[in-house]
Amino acid sequence: MSRLTPAASIESLRGVGPALRDKFAKLRIHTLLDLLLNLPHRYQDRTHVVPLIGLRPNAEALIIGQVVDSRVVFGRRRSWLLTLSDETGFIHLRFFHFSERQRGSVTNGMYLRCFGEVRAGPNGFEMVHPEYKAFPTKPDAPEPMLTPIYPTTEGLTQSRLAGLAAIALTSLDDWTTPDLTPWVDESPSDLRAALRYLHQPPTGTTIDQLSSARSRVALDELISNIIVLKRKQRERVNEQTIALPRAQQLGRVLLNRLGFELTGAQRRVTREVLLDLEQSTPMLRLIQGDVGSGKTVIAAFAAIRAAEHGCQTAIMAPTEILAEQHYLNFSAWLEPLGIPVRLLTGRMTAAERNRERAAIAGGEALVVVGTHALFQKDVDFARLALVIIDEQHRFGVHQRMALRSKGVLPHQLIMTATPIPRTLTMALYADMNVSVIDEMPPGRQPIDTVVVSDARRAEIVSRIARACALGQQAYWVCTLIEESETMDFRAAQTSATELAAALPNLSVALLHGRLAGREKADVMERFKSGEIDLLVATTVVEVGVDVPNATLMVIENPERLGLAQLHQLRGRVGRGTQLSHCILLYKPPLGAQSRARLTVMRETNDGFRIAEEDLKQRGPGDVLGTRQTGAQQFRVADLAIDAHLVGRAADIASRIAESSPDVAEALIQTWSPGNADYTQV
Ligand code: ADP
Ligand code: MG
Repeated sequence: MSRLTPAASIESLRGVGPALRDKFAKLRIHTLLDLLLNLPHRYQDRTHVVPLIGLRPNAEALIIGQVVDSRVVFGRRRSWLLTLSDETGFIHLRFFHFSERQRGSVTNGMYLRCFGEVRAGPNGFEMVHPEYKAFPTKPDAPEPMLTPIYPTTEGLTQSRLAGLAAIALTSLDDWTTPDLTPWVDESPSDLRAALRYLHQPPTGTTIDQLSSARSRVALDELISNIIVLKRKQRERVNEQTIALPRAQQLGRVLLNRLGFELTGAQRRVTREVLLDLEQSTPMLRLIQGDVGSGKTVIAAFAAIRAAEHGCQTAIMAPTEILAEQHYLNFSAWLEPLGIPVRLLTGRMTAAERNRERAAIAGGEALVVVGTHALFQKDVDFARLALVIIDEQHRFGVHQRMALRSKGVLPHQLIMTATPIPRTLTMALYADMNVSVIDEMPPGRQPIDTVVVSDARRAEIVSRIARACALGQQAYWVCTLIEESETMDFRAAQTSATELAAALPNLSVALLHGRLAGREKADVMERFKSGEIDLLVATTVVEVGVDVPNATLMVIENPERLGLAQLHQLRGRVGRGTQLSHCILLYKPPLGAQSRARLTVMRETNDGFRIAEEDLKQRGPGDVLGTRQTGAQQFRVADLAIDAHLVGRAADIASRIAESSPDVAEALIQTWSPGNADYTQV
């Protein structure tokens, strides 16, 4: 056999052809390393024989018994029913699919060793389609061993996966995995040992030992990921892009017309951004600032700087609503300075799109706001110098936007309102410079949050009436089932009808994801202008929407959402100087865990604390919003479980990068060979 490296295709394993390759592709397994990183998600204990009297329903068990009866029964479906007995009791085995040959091979008096799930049947416990093996005399219990159970897909059996993993394990001796012993002293000593251990746990292995072996693999992965990101950062230094030094001071004009003073944090971060732009090295900066901290205006100063040089800025927002809102803001700020702002979204007609595309390609559109539509292949920028990605967490961490214009990498400014716990920043954004806006505009008061049972709905409705009578506005957010926009939509529709009936003096409108872009923009516009008092909405209002006069938010079924998402939603109020309220309207009964989560919301407005809690409770997918996008950064490491490894991984990564470039290279070779001679973002 030729040398099997971690990057070798699984097709280099004997018996793996195109059909199997396609099945593996569904599991995102392409290489030997992928195969071995498809770690068992659990292990079965098939070592302990359970006496038949000790069986419990719905648990898997290994049993040994003697066949005392075997017959075909005709119930609702024809089935083969076997009865086994040991000294302690009985159990039935039931097969719906069986051949006459199979049935003939099992006769009374034989012993069967079976493994399967125990269920309560019509006449006592039974196992349906257990795995079994027949013996003429009473067999011994098998060798003590934990049997791995793999994540798999249709048509790929556990035994097939285990068999192929076993073959792949034999190739480990060929791998030149880096020796991390100078930095990592725990056992298993290296990746290979850990993988062997996890796929074929030796006799007597405990679950604790398996979990340390998994951590060992996770640590390796985190270290190499950070090394890759750090290397990208270093290599960006060699890229040349358009330097945007200080020019006409148009920014100052905007500053004087804003109508508010920038906070100290906004000034500091704007300075950091503008300094980056002056360099011919492409900027890659992440701005983290809690909801309402005022990130948008910083983006505007950056866009102005580019425009002063006749260069274009693309601003990408995750939703149509937010894109339209940015378009209005940027137009209001920049058009008076003579900087044309355009909009490009997926909902435009072909003619509108073509017109915008022409303006972009011709270079007249200096600032272009849009959704994902901006990044389509047919959109050609004449002189793109800056890309701004707003609410980046909604796109998923995986999609670093590698947009080049005429071969030049533009400056990139990435903004996120999800405060990212420090550990995540280290693990995921190690290639970026990070600015944190840690100050709110003056006069903001913390949002008063209460947790209220749905039984008090009528009370809440009259509260809305009171707030709106004072000239304030309110949101009512429906979140029936977060995964399903359809269900949310129905819930929102029902609530809107009820609320409109209960509040005849108010103007109530409905906002949901199914409205056409124009209709959405229209509703938002009317809400912003104060024409609409109460906006009933699905979670489409979650990101970025800014209506400072809205001071009351009711969130239905908040228990269904993650804390980070609730925090985002709640951030739609408390944007002006008036005291704002958020009512978390839950459906009783509320479980202990949900209650604890909602209590966090009541107790704090601090997005960082909320993110830390969310990370602990629900994992990084929720904090970063990557669950929606399906983006998965790591193959083994799970930042919810392995957060405590990140600091150490970062430390080890920087020591390795400094002192042992060969080890760094070997790590990259193993974990992401595609990045080994990496030259572009
Ligand atoms: P986010 O950081 O959530 O994107 P925005 O940029 O939408 O926040 O700003 C929230 C609101 O605060 C907007 O109405 C904006 O005009 C206003 N704002 C921003 N900076 C300041 C400031 N320094 N003083 C007063 N209001 C501000
Ligand atoms: Mg924003």
